[in-house]
Formats: sequence, structure tokens, C-alpha cells
Amino acid sequence: MAAATTTQATTLITGAEALGIRLSDAQTRQFARYHAELARWNERVNLTAITDWQAAQSLHYLDSLSVALALPREMRQSGAFIDIGSGGGFPGLPLKLAFPGMRGTLVEATAKKTAFLSHVCETLDLPNVSVRAGRAETLAHDGELREAFDITLARSVAEVAALAELTLPFARIGGLVVLHKKSDIADELERALGAIETLGGGLRQVLPVTIPGLPDDRALVALEKVRPTPTRYPRRPGIPAKSPIGATARPERAQRRNKRRKTQDKRTR
Ligand code: SAH
Repeated sequence: MAAATTTQATTLITGAEALGIRLSDAQTRQFARYHAELARWNERVNLTAITDWQAAQSLHYLDSLSVALALPREMRQSGAFIDIGSGGGFPGLPLKLAFPGMRGTLVEATAKKTAFLSHVCETLDLPNVSVRAGRAETLAHDGELREAFDITLARSVAEVAALAELTLPFARIGGLVVLHKKSDIADELERALGAIETLGGGLRQVLPVTIPGLPDDRALVALEKVRPTPTRYPRRPGIPAKSPIGATARPERAQRRNKRRKTQDKRTR
């Protein structure tokens, strides 16, 4: 089955070339094998809506590989990355297949998905990849993982403001956070600038990306870790997404606060 699929891997091979990545036959076979396992497990575990190999070559594999455009060469050769909310392994696993010298950690909250990730790493015999089951909010306080990575990745997990809190704590000083986003990112980014600053990050670049075979444009948002993240972050599981740092308080709460202030003002006058 895997051998049959590699013969139709033109989209992947030529698309990777357009991203500056040359895949060997052995690597292409690994992608096809990975996909066969993904499609097989997807009957039991909800890993992806796209199981068709032709469509997945662009939507999953090339889209994941596009992250390489934001990485300096030495990071592609031997960098340590962590992929937050990896799901079926995106974008971390395609990156590891294309750049075997990298070391990877895949973080995923859902146990069934981590079972798949462990299975596929074993099947593909991938060295230097570890799978961690759990929430990023909790794992980021683990001394082995905190501020330990050259590259922190996330695709389709949350808004940038929330993602900043789920990713920046893992980045070492001088390390990068690279987030996969749609190209109309301006408003989302604007809402996130306060959080990025608070968490010790800075905006490095927004890189427009065209994936061969995909009509809509994407963007990679690259953050740089410039200062340590204050130890109180990330907050408890669920809080970063529910109340992102720097988000304006809910209107009714703000109104109540204003009313209180006015009453106090009157009293002090
Ligand atoms: N990155 C994958 C999956 C996206 S779906 C892809 O692009 O295809 C989002 C995934 O993130 C889900 O599998 C969900 O379980 C996981 N997730 C969401 N919040 C998380 C958190 N705080 N910590 C760890 N995993 C999380």
C-alpha cells in the first residue's frame, strides 16, 4: 500500500522542492507510510477530516513543512522543537521526517491521539521524538520542558493571544515560536501584542506563505523569546483561551467596575 502511494507523491515532492526541501525516496516512503497509518487510525480516533492522500499532501504535509521557511538553517539541521496540540502530528512530524537531525517533542491533551503519535513514531522508527500526553498549561511548568526549546510550534490550536501563553513558556531565550495562521492575521495579532510582551516575547516576522496546490494564502507568525516568561504563566488549564492576557474585560464587568469607581469618586470628593 505504501509503495503504491509513493508513486503518486508528485504533489509532495515538487511542493517540498518549492519550499526548498529535497525529499529522498526513503523520506517520501515515510510520508506515505505515515499517511497510511493516519488514515487507518482515523476510523477509530478523530485525527483529521482529510484522509485522501492527494488532498493531504498539500493540506497537511506541505502546509506543515512550510514552517521551515521561518527557521534558520542551523535550527533545521539540529534544532529541538516542541509541537503544542499536535493532534495527528502536525506540523511536528512532517518536519522531523524532512529534517531527521532535529529533535522533537509532541504535546497533545487527548490520550487517544497521543496513542496514535507514539504508534506512528514507533512504526516509522523515528529516533529523538518524544510524545507527551497532557495540557500545555501544565507541562510548561515542568522544569525539563520550560524554556528548553529552540522552536515552539502550533497549528490550528487557538488564537494568537491564547497561543502566546501556551507556547512562549517553552521557548528558550533566543528561541522562536512559529504559528501557522491564515493570511488575514492583522486583527488577531493586534489583540495578541500585549500578551506576547507580557510573556517575554517579541514579534519577529509575519511571513506570507503560498502552499503549492492550495488556493488560499497562509501566514507564519514568528515570535522571538527575548526575556524569561514570568513564573505565574501559563495560568491554569483553560484560562489562556477563556481570558487571553490583555483582552478587554467583558463589558458588563467593566461597566460594574466603572460604576464602583464613580461612587468612590463621589465619596472622596
Ligand atoms: N495541530 C494539529 C491538531 C489541531 S486540533 C493540526 O494542525 O492538525 C487542536 C489539537 O490541540 C487537539 O488535538 C487538542 O486536543 C489539542 N489541544 C488543544 N488545547 C491544548 C492544550 N492546552 N494542551 C495540549 N493540547 C491541546
